[in-house]
Amino acid sequence: MRNKAPLACVALLCAGSAVTANAAATIVIAVADGPNVGFNDPTPVSPVGGNSGRTLGEQRLKVFQEAARIWGQALTSRVPIIVSAGWQAQSCTANSAVLGSAGAVAVFRDFAGAPVRGTWYPVALANALAGVDLMPSLNPANAPDITARFNVNLGKPGCLTGMPFYLGLDSNEGSSAVDLLAVLLHELGHGLGFQTFTNPQTGAPLNNLPSVWDHYLTDASLNRTWAQMTNAQRVASATRTTQLVWGGTQVNDAARSILTAGAPALTVSAPANVVGSYQVGTATFGPALFSPGIANRQIMPVVDQPNGTGLACTALSAANVAAVSGKIALVDKGTCANTVKAANVQAAGAVAMIVVDTLDTLPPATLTGTDASIRIPSVNIALSDGNKLKTALASRTRTSSNVVATVGIDLTRRRGMDTAGRILMYAPNPVQPGSSVSHFDVTATPNLLMEPAINRDLGSSVTLPQDLTYTLLREIGWR
Ligand SMILES: [Zn+2]
Repeated sequence: MRNKAPLACVALLCAGSAVTANAAATIVIAVADGPNVGFNDPTPVSPVGGNSGRTLGEQRLKVFQEAARIWGQALTSRVPIIVSAGWQAQSCTANSAVLGSAGAVAVFRDFAGAPVRGTWYPVALANALAGVDLMPSLNPANAPDITARFNVNLGKPGCLTGMPFYLGLDSNEGSSAVDLLAVLLHELGHGLGFQTFTNPQTGAPLNNLPSVWDHYLTDASLNRTWAQMTNAQRVASATRTTQLVWGGTQVNDAARSILTAGAPALTVSAPANVVGSYQVGTATFGPALFSPGIANRQIMPVVDQPNGTGLACTALSAANVAAVSGKIALVDKGTCANTVKAANVQAAGAVAMIVVDTLDTLPPATLTGTDASIRIPSVNIALSDGNKLKTALASRTRTSSNVVATVGIDLTRRRGMDTAGRILMYAPNPVQPGSSVSHFDVTATPNLLMEPAINRDLGSSVTLPQDLTYTLLREIGWR
């Protein structure tokens, strides 16, 4: 957890990098780049979006200083927060890239003022709670509390080609750049405490003790926090996409005030063994989902393949038309475009389409495609959910119990919250090391700063009424 990288520093930049805000916290950006690299890149640039820096390095530093100012205003600490900041190559391809990463350099427990015993706190928060700097005795040379490293190649060929960082301070990045300020506010959020130090792949807590995060991270299906679980339970919980929630009332009360009411869902009402609300991907074609939606209709499968599955890539047979007419058609993903399937089941008289994905990824992917002639709504569900419904459908003739469902907007939920009013945490299946459980879920609407991906509609606020990041940090101990 300790940073051992030596910090190189150009004196001119380091000298001016402390930011102080009144009655708040001081965040110091300690430049870790060598000459002519990163913050010291001398390439001349034009002013952009309120950033008056004259070199690429200067502009980068001004964005860091703005992020330090914004966080410094929100937080309170008597101990300066030192961020070791630098630019280096990070993993990327032409179409995707790690933008940057940051984290706490060290963790502390059972210091004077620790709210919960036997629990890890990131150093910046531990310092704020203790009221003294807990680091110098451990790392007297340069004691950073947070390390932040950003992708120096972003936008160059082969590294999210053509999508460089936007260095303006006005959240006006447009469609061909990534807002560095938002990315940085996000990464500093992690460093300040928006993360667990427990490993979601093994379930193992750091040195067998929970992080403060784990006292709030809750599995709704077990009704337990991560601090109360075994390693095996945590591993299972890490991929329980619709069940992993935040258990703290401050965040959930605030989330109910800003997240949009009504979430897209497939709600099965019969038979009893498959009753429930299933997570869906929506479609880019056909009408938007509405409430109550296509309500209480029978689901029937299209069967047009030798193995008993149905692709609906050609006009439906008379038997399939008879099966799905007036009902919700269940088809399998693949072979042809989603819009072709929708057109075929629509022509057969189906009132909606459920596509069963080939993957078990949650949340299910969006169904893409364009066809203005599609008038029925379509949703995508995960493979295992689809198989559950198929099993129920297969036993239908024997038990004469129809599978009945509603495709629409579930008004009992807010987008990104569960039916009990708790915000969903990011728990994709399979687990994503570095992202899983330490972010809000991607279904939160409007988008939040601490979702795993930086969305274009984010501003530069970390506080209510725009954002929940500071609220969560308060809940774990920041004041
Ligand atoms: Zn993140």
